[in-house]
Amino acid sequence: MKRRNFLKNSRAATAGLISTTLLGSCKEEKAVPVLKNENAEVVRPIVICTWNFLNASAKAWEVLQAGGTSLDAVEQGVMVEEDDRNNQTVGTGGRPDRDGNVTLDACIMDKDGNCGAVLAMQNIANPISVARKVMEDTPHVMLAGKGAEQFAYEKGFPKADLLTEKSKQEWLEWKKTSEYKPIINIENHDTIGILAIDKNGDISGGCTTSGMAYKMAGRVGDSPIIGAGLFVDNEIGGATATGVGEEVVRTVGSFLIVELMRQGKTPQEACEEGVKRIMAKNEGRDDFQIGFIAINKNGEIGGYCIQPGFSYRTYSEEGHRNNPSKSFLS
Ligand code: ASP
Repeated sequence: MKRRNFLKNSRAATAGLISTTLLGSCKEEKAVPVLKNENAEVVRPIVICTWNFLNASAKAWEVLQAGGTSLDAVEQGVMVEEDDRNNQTVGTGGRPDRDGNVTLDACIMDKDGNCGAVLAMQNIANPISVARKVMEDTPHVMLAGKGAEQFAYEKGFPKADLLTEKSKQEWLEWKKTSEYKPIINIENHDTIGILAIDKNGDISGGCTTSGMAYKMAGRVGDSPIIGAGLFVDNEIGGATATGVGEEVVRTVGSFLIVELMRQGKTPQEACEEGVKRIMAKNEGRDDFQIGFIAINKNGEIGGYCIQPGFSYRTYSEEGHRNNPSKSFLS
């Protein structure tokens, strides 16, 4: 195993995690979030993404290896999937809503807690980049629908036809019965959520999706919602989600997982707890899928899901891997 680029000074890295947040005027009381595994080897740069998105993770890794920032890595990584016409869950080629319109959701978050998102945006091929523009060029976090689209045109994004012939034909077929029934682990759940740590140890994340296939017009899930589909805290780590967005929103899943890591859980333990919270609220239900992935400041990773079948990709000096996730149900 090639480890020469790993930073071994974990003590220093961990010390960097100590928050000096003051509670009110009481200067003695400090929140001191420290990662559990203080002796862990620090792995950076590193990228982790939901599902087996080989090309996206490879692109993000390429950016990181060239010395790029984690923000550029996550954006350019997911753009690969947004541009892939054969990927029917993200960007161009995404499955439409029940009226036949492809509406895209995306968000991005940087090391400083800055974030941007677009919701239910049509006719623009790279929602992740529009989300970044929202973050960088506006005083807002979210732009939705026509407003997001208009903003994208103003920023120079071209109008694009997102509905491919394949997705159109499948939608026309679906319309014959119009049965709205998300299917576990099948094409409906391939949102790409991505987290990266660059050589400076800075964490960023992105999440992009066409949402549930044949959703109600205007429906937005977790993916563009900061805290639900994605959350990054540069002191602690990041988390992102895929699956039935409504359940992730109810639990504010990604924020929850980062907070659990702040309290000392490993990324794996935090993802497992996140799924368990959701299952506790859905006792007896076994007909939906959610997958979480997480990374902490040391580059330790975790992933967990409800149904078997979820996996996540990692790319670091340790190699390029697809990691089958452990699941709540067997
Ligand atoms: N989380 C996405 C949503 O609810 C869908 C998915 O991951 O499949 O819109």
